[in-house]
Amino acid sequence: MSAASKLQMSKFERVKAVLHGERVDRLPFSFWHHFGLEKSSGEKQAEAILAFYRKFDPDLVKVMSDFPYPVPEGLEKISITEDWEQLDVLKNPFPEQIKALKIIHKELKGQAPFVETIFQSWTVAEKLSSRETVRKLKDQNPNLLKRVLRVISESQANHARLALEAGAAGIFLAIAAADDLVMDSQEYLKFVRESDLVILDATKGKSYLNILHLHGNKVHFDNMVAYPVQVINYSVHGTGMDLMTAKRKFSGTLMGGLNEARIAGLGESDLKSEIQEAIMAMQKRRLILAPGCSVPNDIPDDPLLKVRDLVQKS
Ligand SMILES: [Zn+2]
Repeated sequence: MSAASKLQMSKFERVKAVLHGERVDRLPFSFWHHFGLEKSSGEKQAEAILAFYRKFDPDLVKVMSDFPYPVPEGLEKISITEDWEQLDVLKNPFPEQIKALKIIHKELKGQAPFVETIFQSWTVAEKLSSRETVRKLKDQNPNLLKRVLRVISESQANHARLALEAGAAGIFLAIAAADDLVMDSQEYLKFVRESDLVILDATKGKSYLNILHLHGNKVHFDNMVAYPVQVINYSVHGTGMDLMTAKRKFSGTLMGGLNEARIAGLGESDLKSEIQEAIMAMQKRRLILAPGCSVPNDIPDDPLLKVRDLVQKS
């Protein structure tokens, strides 16, 4: 290693280097959890994210985005066919979240890149109605389902554009339906894939850090590697697929290695071996050290501070 490459990189340099497959001084890391502020304001949301950033010093800020997608006026929930037909494309579906992103951008002062979380339209449809209602729609009226997903995705695409204009490096697209426990991969390709791509398309040429989050333990990893994203975040421990195997399937950058289900209870030596194992698997290239999903919302500070210190010293 040359003397120059031993110099400490900035967070931006480190993240960009792993995206390009270059060696880094140490791996970048990130983790996140929900703050329960979905009924609050953009200001409060930004404050929570920034306080978390200042405490744990991640190289990449994954902005939580928990404001609910607006239900059509006059409805509390979507339950029948006519309700779905009232959904319209929204220019700015999450105005408070955009406020939060602008504050985060300003306060981070270019120290670290941040990505905006966007939930795939299938998940939004479930939240607007219920899991059961969306499943029924798929079985009984698949054409309406496709239209619904399209409308939601166009709104999400508008949100993605606004997020990038507000300074986000890219989007963190959370995919929960590409899992055998929700549907098989053939059904996914048929009903859902297109709606994901509408959102990703909106970021084309404007984002350098799109992250696909594959939520679940039976994820359709092989089908998802063709998505136009730089990074895939998945649960190494939940899926049982190690980083070496994932690396052979996906030529981009992986994000994972930490066990989100156990992290709250792990001591220093266990955390250290998880981190070491990930470093060994990837040789300090093409990896953002992170859990495979959100860590528990009530996690004590201690394990997260230990991860920070261990990675920063690695
Ligand atoms: Zn998840």
